[in-house]
Amino acid sequence: MKQELIERFIRYAKVNTQSDPESDTCPSTQGQWELANMLVEELKAIGMEEVTVDENGYVMATLPANTDKNVPVIGFLAHIDTAPEFTGANVNPQLIDSYDGGDIVLNKEQGIILSPNDFPELAHYKGHTLITTDGTTLLGADDKAGIAEIMTAMHYLIKHPDIKHGKVRVAFTPDEEIGRGPHKFDVAKFGAQFAYTVDGGPLGELEYESFNAAEAKITFKGKNVHPGTAKGKMINSIKIAMEFQQQLPANEAPEHTEGYEGFYHLLSFQGNVEETKLHYIIRDFDRESFEARKANMKDIAASLAQKYGTDRITLEINDQYYNMREKIEPVRHIVDIAHEAMANLGIEPKVKPIRGGTDGSQLSYMGLPTPNIFAGGENFHGRYEYISADNMVKAAEVIVEIIKLFEQKSS
Ligand SMILES: [Zn+2]
Repeated sequence: MKQELIERFIRYAKVNTQSDPESDTCPSTQGQWELANMLVEELKAIGMEEVTVDENGYVMATLPANTDKNVPVIGFLAHIDTAPEFTGANVNPQLIDSYDGGDIVLNKEQGIILSPNDFPELAHYKGHTLITTDGTTLLGADDKAGIAEIMTAMHYLIKHPDIKHGKVRVAFTPDEEIGRGPHKFDVAKFGAQFAYTVDGGPLGELEYESFNAAEAKITFKGKNVHPGTAKGKMINSIKIAMEFQQQLPANEAPEHTEGYEGFYHLLSFQGNVEETKLHYIIRDFDRESFEARKANMKDIAASLAQKYGTDRITLEINDQYYNMREKIEPVRHIVDIAHEAMANLGIEPKVKPIRGGTDGSQLSYMGLPTPNIFAGGENFHGRYEYISADNMVKAAEVIVEIIKLFEQKSS
């Protein structure tokens, strides 16, 4: 299994599938088509059925049931794209056999080193086969490791027909990194009762809670007058905007929060005397305090409107996604089965809230409850990204084990 995973992963990693938030197409970039088409051919080659790719680049396929039991249809998903914030062109993966626990020279010429001094988690990987970058690009383990693991698990089940299972659906989707992954996902066509995204980090990760998320855009209008004659006339929109920001609780910001704590995050601040625009994101696990945060922003805007004039402030808040826990709790056994699958394989499940969203956060609200399981990578979205091939084997085994457990628990 390990060689098969390494070969697949490296082949996928070499295709540049970086997504682009500025693009209006779906997929947002041409490279994603290249990998999508490659995956279609490969799914057919390993013997998957109902292999399709739609006009938006969503790849789907079926592993038919080989049991008469009434087993729910389960799905596995991974995303094709890589993060826009770091280059994914000319990815040149490096293979390190039996890692010795020391510094890894990613790039000799540029002096780029992956060191346990900076990344102490490397200590867990002594003796593993690691795949790293050459220091100049990201690796794309997020989430090509997930694709390789799902593909390899399907191939394994096809080669071992003695393992009984229900119908399994798999999907490889575009543009997760720009938040659009589920936008054109056809839940009805996919036809699974639940699914798992294989898009988590290190070994054992199991996630079914995400933020509730909204964004706020606030525009402040000022009145510019020559500063020499401005007394009693000028209204400086920058200063109203600063007043707004000052009234938000200073400690409820990303740089001061962790775990289950929510925040307001000022993403950008652009302005001059005449007009200033603030862009925030609001995040909270708890739905009530999420709503309270939005209400707080509205209150602050209202009080400033009273002070400076109602036409000087416009506030626009849009919800982005919600905590998937609400939709997963009623089908809690899907998390329990993932937990059990890991435990059966001697993997300690690490259940933690995602301080972000996954495709599952949106899919769960589209009628497909979708927790997230580990794909195995570390240091996503940058040049220090790496993955253990040994843990990729574990991830593929967890997929197989989940599928087995669903069959065993059915009648
Ligand atoms: Zn991902």
